[in-house]
Amino acid sequence: MLLIRDAELGSDRVDVRCRDGRIVEIGTGLIGKCDEKVLEARGGALLPGLHDHHIHVFALAGARRSVKCGPPEITDREALAAALASATGSEWIRGVGYHESVAGMLDRRALDAIMRERPVRMQHRSGKMWFLNSAAARILGLDGTFDGRLFRRDEWLREHVTTDVDLAALSLELSSYGITGVTDATPSNDDTTAGEITARGVRQRVCAMGGDDLSQGTLKIMLDEYALPDFDGLRARIAKAHAQGRPTATHCVTRAELVFALSALIDAGTIPGERIEHASVTDDATMALVVQAGVTVVTQPNFIAERGEQYLADVDAADHRHLYRCRGFLDAGVPLGGGTDAPFGGPDPWTAMRAAVTRRTKNGRVIGAEEALSPERALALFTTPAGEPGGAPRRIAVGETGDMCLLDRSWQAARESLRNEHVAATILGGEVIFRR
Ligand SMILES: [Zn+2]
Repeated sequence: MLLIRDAELGSDRVDVRCRDGRIVEIGTGLIGKCDEKVLEARGGALLPGLHDHHIHVFALAGARRSVKCGPPEITDREALAAALASATGSEWIRGVGYHESVAGMLDRRALDAIMRERPVRMQHRSGKMWFLNSAAARILGLDGTFDGRLFRRDEWLREHVTTDVDLAALSLELSSYGITGVTDATPSNDDTTAGEITARGVRQRVCAMGGDDLSQGTLKIMLDEYALPDFDGLRARIAKAHAQGRPTATHCVTRAELVFALSALIDAGTIPGERIEHASVTDDATMALVVQAGVTVVTQPNFIAERGEQYLADVDAADHRHLYRCRGFLDAGVPLGGGTDAPFGGPDPWTAMRAAVTRRTKNGRVIGAEEALSPERALALFTTPAGEPGGAPRRIAVGETGDMCLLDRSWQAARESLRNEHVAATILGGEVIFRR
């Protein structure tokens, strides 16, 4: 079905033939057959298709139809008011990425003062909180005592306000980055989610973790430092998942959340596939617990690039070197995979790889220089199998699935800049789904 001609594979130049979704032949001087499409690689590097190990597909598609309400685009109240006033459409305005550095911690009244005419729902950058104005509260039947803040009520909000999203367009965007698979880490996912994402136009392979309603697959556990669950209850929830053959993936963005989760996991015991998501702050004592627990960490180096300036301003200086560590996990023997956490981060894995190598913020300041990875190791964060984010990278070999990312130049040239612009074609199951 597909013949990729003259691609760089490791140190060789080869032709690669795919049939029925798999790689069936790798050699030199392969002759095209009449039913075969030919993709001329011209010496470009052929890599395994990228897998984003932590993404939120519906939220990302929703964000593409939303008003950006936080830094770097929006930094003060006037800019926020102007952005909301210029929102297209006539009904609901959906805002994302709000941060209190723009206009303080919002509530219903504060939001009314910025936009009264149209109903607004605005998500805090952390993803935990939605702010509503009075027009929105009225539509949702929330009474006068409602302060305008919905904490961890995404599911409820989604049931009451529909956002029309274009998943096919999103899929094409992801294809342009060389992505052939995603793991959706949304805690409210159930047994229908992965199928729905595919049915609505996402061509990538979709793996969904989810909540207690999901009958198989990884259980996503959310923790909030300010509302930690009962320790025994958490341990029992983990044990119950294990009894169903389900590993867990626990959201940990603070040191307290991480220590709490690891303690429960060490107590309950871990099974293959057990994950910690983010591990945003990991000091050396906590690193020892990560090792003891035997979990995989799925990190987001892109946050160093995208949010680094805010971290340098907000986070204790002593903790700067503990932020989104990479090298430190690998040196400790912790399996490490990469995800973007889009829409909370940008969805481009090349931004994440670049940040893992340079450790630079948008303004060029370096966070945790000793955590830097080589370009090869950074790439490997995104080329591991869906079920084993910290495992060995997938291979391009006869018998393997034909999921690949072709660059427009050699790896030696591409590794210097690690840019999505260098993706020439994306191949899913032996079929070209993107061509620049
Ligand atoms: Zn997430």
